[in-house]
Amino acid sequence: MTPILRDGFGRHIDYLRISVTDRCNFRCRYCMPAEGLDWLPKAEILSYEEIAEVVRQLAQLGLRKVRISGGEPTLRPELHKLVGMIRDVRGIEDISLSTNGVRLAAVARLLKESGLDRINMSADSLRPDRIHAISRRRLPFDPVAAATAAEDAGLGPIKINMVVMRGINDDEIADFARLTVDRPWHVRFIELMPVGEMRDVTWDHVVPSDEIIARLAEVGRLSAVSGPERGNGPARYFAFSGARGTVGVITPMTHTYCETCNRVRLTADGKLRTCLFGDQETDLRTLLRAGMSLEPAVRAALVTKPAAHQLLQMNVGGLRALSQVGG
Ligand code: SAM
Ligand code: SF4
Repeated sequence: MTPILRDGFGRHIDYLRISVTDRCNFRCRYCMPAEGLDWLPKAEILSYEEIAEVVRQLAQLGLRKVRISGGEPTLRPELHKLVGMIRDVRGIEDISLSTNGVRLAAVARLLKESGLDRINMSADSLRPDRIHAISRRRLPFDPVAAATAAEDAGLGPIKINMVVMRGINDDEIADFARLTVDRPWHVRFIELMPVGEMRDVTWDHVVPSDEIIARLAEVGRLSAVSGPERGNGPARYFAFSGARGTVGVITPMTHTYCETCNRVRLTADGKLRTCLFGDQETDLRTLLRAGMSLEPAVRAALVTKPAAHQLLQMNVGGLRALSQVGG
């Protein structure tokens, strides 16, 4: 029988989110400063072989789902090679990618052929000028075209994540929701979290999920549905009658979902984080490079996984940006 990873509260951990780079071609206002961050030196970043070794060792302890994230993961050269290496690990049932979508159309097919199952794409606006204003980069990005390219490559179910910011893009909630009527897409509205640059002004810009759901009434009648997720996803889902897709809300600020948390994170420099917003990190890179087993350190780290995050208390420790810990 496969040994199972459990944390100190009995939660079953079978999901790893891997940051493959801390760098990004966007500078989203809620995520990182306009001038960027102090990027990790290359020697500190795990190689694909090292990342695959972490996945192999954790798969023997019951890991089943992997998400590749960042920073912007599609900036890392030959990402498809990592996907292929993870696909070859016995026990891994689901490989997904979180991306800002800028390079998605260019890489979707190769990633699919290498074994990627599906993508989550971030998009905070459908209007070019506003995309530039929020991302602070003038890069060509058409969210609908990028998601369509991913869908055509077989990377569905397509999930689109919009960080809702009052006074900045909340007037586009209905436009995003309408995308789910004719397409089998899942648009999820995320409550803005108090990290990065917007830390001090976050509460002014948070639109609580209950308000988002109420505002969707302008598009049509909503019913609660089960959504596309297998297992413990953080989103609650709804659908308009007759719609092909769903709308969802991810509510780190107003309703926590920590009690069903099944995930841990690996930073680009090889630290295991047991909570997105905790400060606890365990250095796996040193163990890996010494050829040692990761199991004792991973089990010890899980004992300290907190019961719940401290976001509502605005106590997020030293975390500066989600890009540093794989969102
Ligand atoms: N670059 C990729 C992307 O944007 O999808 C992957 C990494 S990004 C850090 C992962 C997710 O975190 C994105 O959906 C992004 O919108 C979200 N995110 C980053 N900072 C956030 C914040 N302050 N509040 C809410 N969501 C945030
Ligand atoms: Fe880059 Fe994603 Fe952060 Fe935006 S949210 S700056 S795309 S890492």
